[in-house]
Amino acid sequence: MTDNGVGKRCPCGSKQFFEQCCQLVIDDPRGAAVPEQLMRARYSAYALGSYGQFLYDSWHETARASLSVAALDTLGNQWHRLRLLQSDTDAGNPDRGWVTFMAFFTVDGQPEVMHERSEFLREQGVWYYASGVQFDTQIPSRKSPCLCGSGKPFKRCCGDV
Ligand SMILES: [Zn+2]
Ligand SMILES: [Zn+2]
Repeated sequence: MTDNGVGKRCPCGSKQFFEQCCQLVIDDPRGAAVPEQLMRARYSAYALGSYGQFLYDSWHETARASLSVAALDTLGNQWHRLRLLQSDTDAGNPDRGWVTFMAFFTVDGQPEVMHERSEFLREQGVWYYASGVQFDTQIPSRKSPCLCGSGKPFKRCCGDV
């Protein structure tokens, strides 16, 4: 049983309803004016499962070879929270940008974090996810300051799952 997200708060953390937020981009990727919006929608698609076609289509064609819609449709990890840390655009190329984020998830109840700087490319007005560089970031102890920079203890912030 998958959850299409409709009628609930958007997984991306915007506090809006999914259908007024990331679903707009999932339904029409042209709705992402900046890479950050595509990043959010891709996170929401992963968090909800069953949006594999969108994940596939929003991958830049040069990076699609090893992907399958069926695999992307499957709910993998349990995703809990997205924190966008930084957005950059290429000073010499408005069709290239990067988003640095942390995505918190659990595997068998254990918290984990994916910390990545993703590259996005725009072609004919549509942004695509092109590649990502992952950082080797470790989950802090429960009382240590959260990785997202909130200043709160991890267990009361992104580790609150
Ligand atoms: Zn959203
Ligand atoms: Zn946090």
